[in-house]
Formats: sequence, structure tokens, C-alpha cells
Amino acid sequence: MRIKIDLALCQGHGQCAEEAPEVFRVVNNPTAYDHTELIMESPDEALRPKVERAIRYCPNRVISFEG
Ligand code: SF4
Repeated sequence: MRIKIDLALCQGHGQCAEEAPEVFRVVNNPTAYDHTELIMESPDEALRPKVERAIRYCPNRVISFEG
């Protein structure tokens, strides 16, 4: 599983980090929207359910994955 985030559309809501804190972390951006960065791009299979919830609950629908 390889995760991608469209950072141009991420607005830092943080639901992703709440659902999968092992994978996503919200970074403060003082000049624009906060945004998320990936702690790990290719998480272990055991984290798949959390990643799927992060994708489902991202209000901007900017998270995707392959594999
Ligand atoms: S929930 Fe979506 S829009 Fe919000 S910080 Fe996470 S990836 Fe970005």
C-alpha cells in the first residue's frame, strides 16, 4: 500500500491524523491552510483499516492509495 495526498487541496482538518496517527501528521502553516504530511508512505498492512477510515473521513477527499 502506497499513500498519496494531494497537498494542493488538503486544508489541514486533521481527521486523517485522528484516524491513523501512525501515518498522518498535521503540520502548522502560518501563511495558509495547515496541511498533512505522511509519517510513512508505505504503511504495514495492519494499518490498512485505519488508512481506509482516514480516506473515508477526509472532507476534501484528497487521500488515495495504490496496492
Ligand atoms: S483530513 Fe484530508 S484535508 Fe484534512 S488534513 Fe487530512 S488529508 Fe488534509
